[in-house]
Amino acid sequence: MSNKPLPVVEYLKIPDAGDPYLEGNKCGACGAIFLGTRDVCSKCGARDQMQTMKLASKGKLYSYSIVHRSFPGIEVPYISAVVDLEDGAAVKGNLIGIEPDPAKIKFDMPVEVVFADALGRKDREGNSYLSFFFKPRA
Ligand SMILES: [Zn+2]
Repeated sequence: MSNKPLPVVEYLKIPDAGDPYLEGNKCGACGAIFLGTRDVCSKCGARDQMQTMKLASKGKLYSYSIVHRSFPGIEVPYISAVVDLEDGAAVKGNLIGIEPDPAKIKFDMPVEVVFADALGRKDREGNSYLSFFFKPRA
């Protein structure tokens, strides 16, 4: 067994070689893209047309909220964001690398997906977890 980290969500894929990425499903009938696995397209209703794909690693900030209260052990405040990726998928995640200050966070600002250790959490076997975040890009 390797020390490969475990993904925090099932749509975060960690290949044996290469960089981690987010996986989506694309409808072969209408081209809509969704996060995670599904059998029926929620846009056009087509069945068994979904194909997995690697999602874009760049996008723009669609919306966000600054979270001031969370579970014990979770550092606050943090920014919970929804990002529109360049391929059309909408993904929810935490925005990092910027102060949780509404004066600094702009709608539609360009962001990229980054992968990092999930707050040092480990499972019972001592495996670490890999999570994804959004970060502003120039
Ligand atoms: Zn469809």
